[in-house]
Amino acid sequence: MTRDGEELISTHCCFCGMQCGMNIRVKTVDQSVVGVEPRYDFPMNGGRLCPKGVAAYRQAEHRERILHPLIRKNGQLVKATWDEALDLVTSKIQDIQGKYGKDAFGLYSGSSMTNEKCYIMGKFARIGLGTKNIDYNGRYCMSSASYGFNQSVGIDRGSTNPWSDIKEADVLVLAGSNTAECHPLSMPYIWGARDKGAKIIVIDPRETKTALVADVHLDIRPGTDVAIGNGLLHVMIADGLVDEQFIEQHTTGYERLKEVVASYTPQRVAEITGVAPEKIITAARLYGQAKEGMVMFARGVEQHATGTDAVSTYVNLSLVSGKIGKKGSGFATFTGQGNGQGGREHGQKTDQLPGFRKITDPKAREYIASVWGVEESEIPGPGLSAFEILQQLGKEIKGLLLVCSNPIVSSPSIGDVGEYLKGLDFFVAIDMFMSESAELADVVLPSTVWIEDNGTTTNVEGRVVRLKGINRRPGEVKADWEIISEIADRLGRGKYFKYNSPEEIFNELRVASKGGIADYYGITYEKLEKMQGVFWPCPTEDDEGMPRLFEDKKFNFPDGKAKILAFEHKGPNEQVSEEFPLILSTGRVVYHYLSGNQTRRIEALTNFCPDPYVEIHPNTARQYNIGNGELVKISSPRGHIKVVAKITKIIREDMIFVPYHWGKQLAINHLTNPALEPKSKIPEFKVCAAKLEKIETL
Ligand code: SF4
Repeated sequence: MTRDGEELISTHCCFCGMQCGMNIRVKTVDQSVVGVEPRYDFPMNGGRLCPKGVAAYRQAEHRERILHPLIRKNGQLVKATWDEALDLVTSKIQDIQGKYGKDAFGLYSGSSMTNEKCYIMGKFARIGLGTKNIDYNGRYCMSSASYGFNQSVGIDRGSTNPWSDIKEADVLVLAGSNTAECHPLSMPYIWGARDKGAKIIVIDPRETKTALVADVHLDIRPGTDVAIGNGLLHVMIADGLVDEQFIEQHTTGYERLKEVVASYTPQRVAEITGVAPEKIITAARLYGQAKEGMVMFARGVEQHATGTDAVSTYVNLSLVSGKIGKKGSGFATFTGQGNGQGGREHGQKTDQLPGFRKITDPKAREYIASVWGVEESEIPGPGLSAFEILQQLGKEIKGLLLVCSNPIVSSPSIGDVGEYLKGLDFFVAIDMFMSESAELADVVLPSTVWIEDNGTTTNVEGRVVRLKGINRRPGEVKADWEIISEIADRLGRGKYFKYNSPEEIFNELRVASKGGIADYYGITYEKLEKMQGVFWPCPTEDDEGMPRLFEDKKFNFPDGKAKILAFEHKGPNEQVSEEFPLILSTGRVVYHYLSGNQTRRIEALTNFCPDPYVEIHPNTARQYNIGNGELVKISSPRGHIKVVAKITKIIREDMIFVPYHWGKQLAINHLTNPALEPKSKIPEFKVCAAKLEKIETL
């Protein structure tokens, strides 16, 4: 119901992969925002919003919005016209590429954008700039999940099942996911399953709010997911809790798995993980004996130098037990970024073209070239991944376009990243607020926030949803795709970027995705509105999409069989030492989103969590003589920060935990390890070696 003089604009929350439905309440007279309401009609959240969702709209008219283009003059960013700013950007791109070659200009983008914007970034890099060096911040989030899914089942959709299936499971395995804080509105699904009698197994080093609902909590030493997964598989195989018929008919690799996990006895796994053998046996039996079960995980599993191995190891639980392709049975990763799923489908990954096509595949290159109206040879090959781009700034890469990302907070070892950024000949950032990264730019271009955007995103389930924007923009802000189109025009490539609306971009994206793994061809804006979103793949307009994958037990490999892949436990890249005796892990809190560039500006959220802190177990705190609320210095081989201590029994004695949403002197990523997982190139955010010191003053 609307009040007099108001109207409701139907859209989706921007702050996590659930993409909860909400209505923005605006005044009809000028479209100014009055507030938000959760949507009861959208099945994902059914009339609820978490604190971030309730407060998200407050960024739209925030006093710190960047309202005009800015150009650096005499060391200061000063107001400029769009023409001045875009002419400068264009001439710098041309100068740098003329001097050093096309690949010397890089594009680093994000996944908190609509599908249409993500698609445009990939296209602009390849045929606007002509550079191979494009990648995006999703590389930090879940690229190992993406790689793991592809290598195990040949398809990378974040969830094999719709979220409604969670309540149908008899057992849930939640690994490395603090669902209660990071995807709060997934909890009603988990509680629903529990209330119907499902058992809940949580695998996490901390006794998080999510772990509080667990029947069994396996509080593993960080970086030991492969070992615990192998331990669970060992018990399931030993107890005959596997589905031999499913394995025989629909998988390959089981014999090798049996050989590898044979040595992962509960006793050995207990030594590696620190979890009692009885708990490992109980958890394995709970999962193995259940009829239906979901295995769900997140960054705690993925952000490791062995993240891809760990993902495929957890997928093995579903495969050996045949708990896949059924109501209540499958696996999923919780996407962290608002459009974490869509962001990785449309070609802004350096190794991909739209529709999840491999950029090295000659047929894929031919097809996308035909959609874009260029020669295949005009599409550059794969370039550097996200962190590798940053490492090459000032070296191989002399100029950078940064879009919707804040790598100087979100990257590992950011002391180094700051130096890399300063080494650039030219740096342009597109952002809505002056992020810590944008502050270093030569030109800053103001962009729309989510409630001003029209378009689509793809949620954690693989459901494509429709976002409608309010008809009001402050100052001179433009949508990212409009800015990119204008730069392309100035570069003489405008004919490839002539769009009048996001729907026109989406219709091109549909064609580009046709026949690919993430096939959106049958999805239209009209259908999205009628159906409360559509699950991909959806190859034809009369198709209704595919909420549940693998119901036909056909996996995406030539023989149709899933690959059971076996991995040995290797452990973290960086080990604790005498000098750095504690394991440092990082993560999120419910009140903030990613680098905090948006949520740190919303008082309704910062009032609850204004600053970072370090969680320390009471026994560890005693050892260092640290009291609750006292100031401590945390150091790793790469740097240090100073924060207050939070003494808590929820954490293991051998580790400490710091949330990562703050920048500058409060950024925990000064300390994290930039070691990359070799296949997916995800950095190992979740483990590094650290030490603690009590200090008296800042
Ligand atoms: Fe937004 Fe996620 Fe909260 Fe839903 S659960 S309101 S999508 S942050």
